[in-house]
Amino acid sequence: MTCEIVSVGTELLLGQIVDTNAAFLSRELAAIGVQVFWRTTVGDNRDRITAALRTALARADVVITIGGLGPTEDDLTREAIADALGEPLEYDPVLGAHLQQLFAARGREATPSQLRQAYRPPSAETIPNPYGTAPGLKVEREGKWLFALPGPPNEFEPMVHEQIIPLLKGRTAGMVIRSRVLRLCGIGEADAEAQLQDLVRQSNPTLAPLAHLGEVHLRITAKASSPDEAEQLIAQMERAVRERLGDSIYGTDETTLEQVVVNLLREHGQSLANAESCTGGLLSHRITEVPGSSEVFIGGIVAYSNAVKEQELGVPRTILEQYGAVSEQTARAMAEGVRARLGSYWGIGITGIAGPSGGTPEKPVGMVYISLSDPTGTMVQRHLFLGDRHTIKWRASQAALTLLRQGILKGGCDSLSRS
Ligand code: AMP
Ligand code: MG
Repeated sequence: MTCEIVSVGTELLLGQIVDTNAAFLSRELAAIGVQVFWRTTVGDNRDRITAALRTALARADVVITIGGLGPTEDDLTREAIADALGEPLEYDPVLGAHLQQLFAARGREATPSQLRQAYRPPSAETIPNPYGTAPGLKVEREGKWLFALPGPPNEFEPMVHEQIIPLLKGRTAGMVIRSRVLRLCGIGEADAEAQLQDLVRQSNPTLAPLAHLGEVHLRITAKASSPDEAEQLIAQMERAVRERLGDSIYGTDETTLEQVVVNLLREHGQSLANAESCTGGLLSHRITEVPGSSEVFIGGIVAYSNAVKEQELGVPRTILEQYGAVSEQTARAMAEGVRARLGSYWGIGITGIAGPSGGTPEKPVGMVYISLSDPTGTMVQRHLFLGDRHTIKWRASQAALTLLRQGILKGGCDSLSRS
């Protein structure tokens, strides 16, 4: 069963509100196996809403409109539905009486504009709205369904739960759509996809790479007649992906890289200290976002100036003068220095140019050295990150976490640098 969601409201097109209703509805529909193939957003314009509805009815089994059912002049979904069906709008005396009653109970009288909500095309049934005044509508025609629901989320969401989902469930016969996200680090979207080309072309489950800031996600989505079957399909695909990408997969679904790294440190009984220049403490912040990180994270030094690098981390002045603050040598001295000063098992040193100014042809914006040190040795990576200041800082923290994870998995800097 395919569905199109038609969100109505000029405020959506102007970007003044975000379409949280459509996102909510998409999630609810996926859970019961309804495939949302299209989502359309249209402003408060009768002709354009009508055109959007005609298109939607031509290509989807179920069309669900959101918003535009209220009492005001710009609420035109009702009129557009009538136009799309080629029917007039007729006053429904039962609905009218219900509205009068709603207002009477509050000591008021329904105004003529309020009573617009009592009109419907003759072939539409009313969907009662216990949460507000605007009723929903339901039309069944040529085996297709059209539902119209009011926009306020506190009316829309319960109406979806209580009235739409149960109806659709009856027709989807227990179908479910399930997804799992595999999260990758240390590999780009194109490289990952190149190794998964044949899998990406499969249709059930589907495998889709999604680029995020500093990492790639692979979304596996399966459609099946039971949750168990969907989980099995997902598990098969996950195994195939893991065979190819191995250690590049650091976690699934909501797991973050910092959580994984903190867990690994805990499992290995190892501690960490950071010396951060261009990331300004971002790496330490991310680690301390993980509950329980105090067991493994000793502390960090934000060594922004050369003086702090020298005095607090013991970076030799000769290195700073000869190679500069952004250099392999400085990064190495920072990682080794923070390990020695704070007495940690692992030490990380990060120094680079976050921009937008400060770059030179030899050391452009985005050049970041990341060093990892442990009792077996010290290694340094040089990166050239693209993006604005925030992006470069984030990517640097991500690369540092990735390097530390690899170091732990390989059993130390010495074996990591030889692998
Ligand atoms: P309407 O039913 O178009 O009169 O919308 C009433 C109110 O519901 C709007 O002012 C918004 O605050 C909210 N609303 C309408 N459509 C959406 C939507 N798609 N997502 C979230 N909120 C919405
Ligand atoms: Mg509106």
